[in-house]
Amino acid sequence: MRIDLHAHSSASDGTQSPAELVAAAARAGLDVLALTDHDTTVGWAPAARAAREHGITLVRGTEVSARWRGVSVHLLSYLQDPDHPALVAELEATRHARVTRAERMVELLAVDVPITWADVLAQAGDAVTVGRPHVADALVANGVVPDRDAAFAHLLRADGPYHVPHYAPAAADAVRAIVAAGGVAVFAHPGADARGRIVPDETFDELAAAGLAGLEVDHRDHSPAQRERLRAIADRLGLLVTGGSDYHGAGKVNELGENLTRPEILAVIEERGTSEVVR
Ligand code: AMP
Ligand code: ZN
Ligand code: FE
Ligand code: FE
Repeated sequence: MRIDLHAHSSASDGTQSPAELVAAAARAGLDVLALTDHDTTVGWAPAARAAREHGITLVRGTEVSARWRGVSVHLLSYLQDPDHPALVAELEATRHARVTRAERMVELLAVDVPITWADVLAQAGDAVTVGRPHVADALVANGVVPDRDAAFAHLLRADGPYHVPHYAPAAADAVRAIVAAGGVAVFAHPGADARGRIVPDETFDELAAAGLAGLEVDHRDHSPAQRERLRAIADRLGLLVTGGSDYHGAGKVNELGENLTRPEILAVIEERGTSEVVR
């Protein structure tokens, strides 16, 4: 069984539509794919139709933006009730704040490089969640940088001069909102220290007490040392260990299925989640 529990579509910052993403996952030989767009569930319905058509199992989820004492944190929510009012309101607030934030980043960038807000909107297309990757795409289209990675290397980096943070719920509150919505909360790439600041060990105790179910240990942004650290923490706190590709289509080098989750872990997620897995 090849199970990839982390992937993005054009509903957020992936480059393929939800249906195209699911078709690509089937072609890549995956048995199970989780759709985890940033801060939205809008891709769930088209992805479910495509999953039935292509004979692949779909886990419907969301990558929820959050913050822990100023550190940006991503929480994978699996199989929640997509209509739960408190979580819906949180995601809506974050999506709204992301637009204001991206506009502000464009204002700062425009002082030094050719970019307008219209350029970003053109790249965002039908995305309901605007992110730095769309700003990166506008920079690529305008010839400022060759690709998304080059944009993140300097202009868009979290500690760079053009970066603006956006509102996101406190991580423990986000975990509680996911659990209240019947979802299974897994901390996404918690040891991705090359991207920006990461949380210390105590944070996992706090989030486990709030209902966190697992840690995404197997992720390309984790060094062997981080994987070892996170596995030990998961052991200590009785958390599930997951893996995923964090595939974004053509926008990143990540390939579908490059990191996987064990079937017995998926069985626990399925058992705990409120929404059905689509088969
Ligand atoms: P945002 O949530 O708008 O701040 O942007 C985060 C998104 O940017 C995530 O989906 C990441 O995949 C992507 N991202 C973050 N850091 C990098 C990086 N160093 N290189 C390429 N993409 C990145
Ligand atoms: Zn993304
Ligand atoms: Fe993430
Ligand atoms: Fe992601």
